[in-house]
Amino acid sequence: MKNNASLKEIAGILKTAQTILIFTHTNPDGDALGSAAALCRVLRKMGKTSWILMDEEVPEYISFMDTELVTRDKDCLKEHDISICVDCGEYSRFPALADKFDEGKLHLCVDHHATGDGFGDHYYIDPSEAATCQLIYKLIKELEAEVAESSEDVCEGTLIDLTVAESLYTGINTDTGSFQYSNTTADTHAIAADLMNYGVDHTAINVKLYQTIPMTKLKIQAAILQRAELLFGGKVAVGYVTGQMLEEAGAVLDDAEGTIDMLRNIEGVEIAAFLKEKGEAVKVSMRAKSFANVAEIASVFGGGGHVKAAGCTLEMGMDEALDAIKKAIGEHF
Ligand code: 5GP
Ligand code: MN
Repeated sequence: MKNNASLKEIAGILKTAQTILIFTHTNPDGDALGSAAALCRVLRKMGKTSWILMDEEVPEYISFMDTELVTRDKDCLKEHDISICVDCGEYSRFPALADKFDEGKLHLCVDHHATGDGFGDHYYIDPSEAATCQLIYKLIKELEAEVAESSEDVCEGTLIDLTVAESLYTGINTDTGSFQYSNTTADTHAIAADLMNYGVDHTAINVKLYQTIPMTKLKIQAAILQRAELLFGGKVAVGYVTGQMLEEAGAVLDDAEGTIDMLRNIEGVEIAAFLKEKGEAVKVSMRAKSFANVAEIASVFGGGGHVKAAGCTLEMGMDEALDAIKKAIGEHF
């Protein structure tokens, strides 16, 4: 836990602000978008001017989520009261917008990543929380209490609506691997249960997340699995995708999303690594099943994340990157 402010204090700061710009990490996932979307909608309900600023398209696989308040217009707000970064606590995770984050008069951060050491003027970073959406849920509860104290027409319990609940539920679902990973706690289920009381249709969300797979995605996954290697007596699975493989399968890089889970799910595998060719660089995703710490391995290359889910970017070609990752995993064992 790395905090210099409580969620109640962060709620108090947000309540007194008028213009709030929300940031998250590049290549946003369900938790990043869910956290930002839920917070932005709630702030709007409180009468604030608020936007989520991104420098890229929302990935196709989460584009069914609430993206209405996402903008790529850096001029949407100027010299705004607050910049708040959610599900992200390092400049290196959103380099293209770091200058805009700084432009805010006050800088807040709500995150659950284990790596990084505090971020912004006031931050609440709790790696024991499965998803930042759990923290945003708790922050919204604090905002509800603040609003209830000060106003007659907005009473406690009105800031979360179905759209907000769906964003939060989706983020918790994706960051826990549908409530499978070890980060899932009784608190996770309690929050999910409360969100379902707002009318969240969990089956519909699960169908959108996991049962709407394009055929091109299955084709590229087949090509990746065909080339994947099992190392260290089957304890490590390493897979990769290149531009040429994508072309041959008629797929796009987004289609490789989720392949890391297939590698980790292989019998006997403790560490899975998946390497994606991205321009001149290689983006690495790593997962641990039971005991390994992949955040440690990622931090060797300047990356980070969680103990059981981490990543980094290597500025080199695929062959060199594969060698470097295999060597680092071997040293970790
Ligand atoms: P993924 O493999 O899904 O891209 O990322 C897994 C986890 O590691 C996520 O929590 C993500 O935020 C984090 N992560 C991925 N890449 C990086 C990176 O380059 N640097 C840091 N600090 N964290 C990363
Ligand atoms: Mn997250």
